[in-house]
Amino acid sequence: MALSVLDEELIKIANLFGGEEAVTVVRSLKKLGEATDDMIANDCKAEKEVRLNSVRKILYKLYDHGLVSCTRVRDEKTGWFIFYWRLQPDQLDAFIRSRKKRILDKLKMRLDYERNHTFFVCKTDPDVRVTFEDAMETSFKCAKCGKQLESSENGGMVSVLGTRIERIEAELSR
Ligand SMILES: [Zn+2]
Repeated sequence: MALSVLDEELIKIANLFGGEEAVTVVRSLKKLGEATDDMIANDCKAEKEVRLNSVRKILYKLYDHGLVSCTRVRDEKTGWFIFYWRLQPDQLDAFIRSRKKRILDKLKMRLDYERNHTFFVCKTDPDVRVTFEDAMETSFKCAKCGKQLESSENGGMVSVLGTRIERIEAELSR
């Protein structure tokens, strides 16, 4: 079964919140529509055992971010409250959009930075990459090994960033 974009995002977010267990819980809740923590824990067993305690923790976390809603119903026999949980697709969409906007801002800042600077790298130390200004400070010598730094092309990086920005902008304009 093909997953919709929203489902894919939902799985990603669930994973962010609580790893594989949260993914199982969210999948189950999506299938059940509305369910108690007990019902979810039972349903999860088919895919992956998730302890009731973990199911609750995951639900509370999702609730804190407005990704699930909760309805309280009093049990006639016991007098206790039963909580019914449900995914909030609208909230999810808003959550995804705000997350994408944050990522977009960061990418744009990074792109600006890449465009406005010249970079120098060390052939020996792959993690050494400094701006022209910083390279001047060390007389164009690597701060780690002391070798001569070499100027580095960042056209590839700029184009990757540009593509990612375009893609997110297109997603946000839908
Ligand atoms: Zn070096």
